[in-house]
Amino acid sequence: MDTSFKSLSIGDVEKLVVEAGLPKFRAGQILSWVYAKGARSYDEMTDLPKAMRAQFSEAYPLHNPTVIDKRVSRDKSRKYVLEFGDGALAETVGLPSSDGRLSVCVSSQSGCGMRCAFCATGHAGLTRNLLPGEIIDQIIHVQEDFGQRVTNVVVMGQGEPFANYDNTLAALRIANHPKLLNIGARHVTVSTCGLTEGIRRFAEEPEQFTLAVSLHAARQEVRDTIMPGVARQRLGELRSALKHYTDATGKRFSFEYALMKDVNDSMEDLDALVSYCKRLLCHVNIIPLNEIEDSPFKPVSRTVLETWCTRLEDAGVPATIRNSRGTDIAGACGQLASKHI
Ligand code: SF4
Repeated sequence: MDTSFKSLSIGDVEKLVVEAGLPKFRAGQILSWVYAKGARSYDEMTDLPKAMRAQFSEAYPLHNPTVIDKRVSRDKSRKYVLEFGDGALAETVGLPSSDGRLSVCVSSQSGCGMRCAFCATGHAGLTRNLLPGEIIDQIIHVQEDFGQRVTNVVVMGQGEPFANYDNTLAALRIANHPKLLNIGARHVTVSTCGLTEGIRRFAEEPEQFTLAVSLHAARQEVRDTIMPGVARQRLGELRSALKHYTDATGKRFSFEYALMKDVNDSMEDLDALVSYCKRLLCHVNIIPLNEIEDSPFKPVSRTVLETWCTRLEDAGVPATIRNSRGTDIAGACGQLASKHI
C-alpha cells in the first residue's frame, strides 16, 4: 500500500530520506519543491536524482486537489471548494487586506463532527481528517490564485483542529518553516471549540502560534444547547485548561462569541461572560452572527453588540466587534459548507 506524500510531516520526510540511504538535504529539496515551489509531480523536481524521484513517486505519490468551485465576494475575499482524490471536500477562504496582507482561513477536517447548532458545517457531519499536505494545499492554492504571498493563516474553516491535532500541527510547521511557506508563527491562529486536552498540548508547543477559543456562551446550559459536541467538557474545566495555557506560555488568547438573538444575548449571559473572563489573559471578539438560510439563529442589533463590548471593556476585559467578511459568498464564520455538502 502506498502512502500519500501529503500525509508526511517534515520529520517523516527527513527520516524516510535517511532510511533510503540518501543525504538529509534531499528531504529539504523535496519539501521545498512541494510546499515552496508548488510542484505537482516528482517529474518537476529536476535537481533530484532520477532513481530517487521514481522511488518516491511509487511509495509516496503526490496527490493534488481539484478546485471544484470558486466564488468572489464584493469585499474581494474568495471562497474555494477543493476536492481531494477520495472525493473529500474542503472549503478555504482567501481574505486580502488593503495593507497588502493576505490571510487564509483553512479547514482542518472535511466536514466536522462537533455539531454546533448555529454552524452549517456542523449540520453536515464529519467526512474525515485532512492530511497535513491537504491543509497546506489550501494555502498554496490561495497564494497561487491571488498571485501573492500568504501572510496570515487562521485554522477557522471547517473542522475542529484539535480533533485532528497531529496533522494540524504538522501542517502549521510546514507553513511556518523559513524554507517552506515562511509564515510567521505569530501570524498563525488555531481556533478550537474548546477541546481541553488539545489546549493543554498546544500550551507545550515551542512555536508562538496563537490560540482562539469559540466560547459562544459562558453559561453551561446555554453552551450545552448550542455546542453539544463539547457538552461533556464543562466550562470550569475549559477555564482551567486556558489558565494553564496562559501560565505556561505567557500569551493572551482570544474568545470568539457570536451573539445570537434570544439564545445567548441576555444580561445574565453577559454577566456570566464578564465573570468567566475575569483574571484570564484573554481578548473577546464579539461576532455579529451571519444569517444562514433557514437557520433559526438570528443576529442581534448593533446596539446590543456595542453594549456587550462596552460592558466587557468597563470590566477590564479587552473586547472588539469583529465584522465578518465574505457573507455574500457564504464564506464567513459558520457559513462554510452551507452550499456544497
Ligand atoms: S463551529 Fe467549528 S467546531 Fe462547531 S460545528 Fe462548525 S466547524 Fe465544527
